[in-house]
Amino acid sequence: MYNLVVFGAPGSGKGTQSARLIDEYGLYHISTGELLRDHIARGTELGKVADTYISKGNLIPDDLMIEILENTLNTNPDTAKGVIFDGFPRTIEQAEALNKMLAKRGSKVHAVIGLEVADAELIDRLLKRGLESGRSDDNIDTINQRLQVYNKQTAPLRDYYISEGKYHGVKGSGSIDDIFRAIKDELHGTEE
Ligand code: ATP
Ligand code: MG
Repeated sequence: MYNLVVFGAPGSGKGTQSARLIDEYGLYHISTGELLRDHIARGTELGKVADTYISKGNLIPDDLMIEILENTLNTNPDTAKGVIFDGFPRTIEQAEALNKMLAKRGSKVHAVIGLEVADAELIDRLLKRGLESGRSDDNIDTINQRLQVYNKQTAPLRDYYISEGKYHGVKGSGSIDDIFRAIKDELHGTEE
């Protein structure tokens, strides 16, 4: 099992690079953002709850998010080969829960790729995406809130994973191919 966390601010390109990484390494992709948006689209009870947080630019509460993640691991046997976690963890509490979940399975987080992009470029990308995505959170007010939430609740995970010796920062601007190459270079030797 090889487990990779793709980490970064909203609009940093987690989804784009995760798609390339699954092809390259044959891992199972869990995007918590996509999973929640799928519930919203299907109008499930969970989707209704999630929407109240997402459309305001806030995080889903930790206990609920952790339960959803564990449930996804339990119900998808393919996760046993290894997982790309895209958008999870987003808080220290989620990171600690993930360590426990993987330890129970005799595994761990092998590496964390941190996509590093300047705020001005993030805002620009998210506004552009908003023109087509139809996402309730890709508008300027919600984007500002998401960036604040990121800086306050999620950015501290960088130090958390640095202290675990797992953090690999990659410049997240430039061409998709160049960024992907930089990620592969960083991941070299992290399989142990
Ligand atoms: P990117 O463009 O880099 O993929 P993103 O900001 O579009 O990043 P998503 O991962 O798609 O982010 O998440 C969208 C929203 O879903 C978040 O703003 C948050 O409300 C909710 N969400 C997703 N993952 C989590 C999580 N781990 N904990 C709490 N809320 C989450
Ligand atoms: Mg995404």
